Amino acid sequence: MAEEVYDYNVKCKTCRTTFTVQLFDSHEKNLFVVDKKDWFCDQCKKDYFKAETDKRLNEQKSIGFSELTGTDKSVSWGTKIREELINKVNYLKQSLSFDLDEEKELSDKAFEAFFSEWHQQTTAKWWIDNRRMNVRDISNRVAEIKKEIQP
Ligand SMILES: [Zn+2]
Repeated sequence: MAEEVYDYNVKCKTCRTTFTVQLFDSHEKNLFVVDKKDWFCDQCKKDYFKAETDKRLNEQKSIGFSELTGTDKSVSWGTKIREELINKVNYLKQSLSFDLDEEKELSDKAFEAFFSEWHQQTTAKWWIDNRRMNVRDISNRVAEIKKEIQP
């Protein structure tokens, strides 16, 4: 069965520029998609991702992290991963409960030291390489630090 390719003119939702897209379904379906979907031109897409990255970066800066180094694409991805990993740490931290104030204090210190280690990681590559780190990995490292700093 021969597949037909159609070019369609769509309008960018942000800047209202008209641009062409290729769609591969039946003409009828394509017209529906052209009409219903929100389209964004390449430049607006790029601007959108940059704005998202800047927003994440500002949040991360407010808790001691710095800008990542790397290509635009890897910085954008690395910053997103970093946000997800920070969320995992905070999730872990909030899930803990302590009987004694001293225990909580030690735990807080360990988390602080843990974040200090992460503050040193400023290449996008490191975050991308470590993107599969899970709550258990984080918990293990925090436990190690706890042992190291225990009085
Ligand atoms: Zn646009």
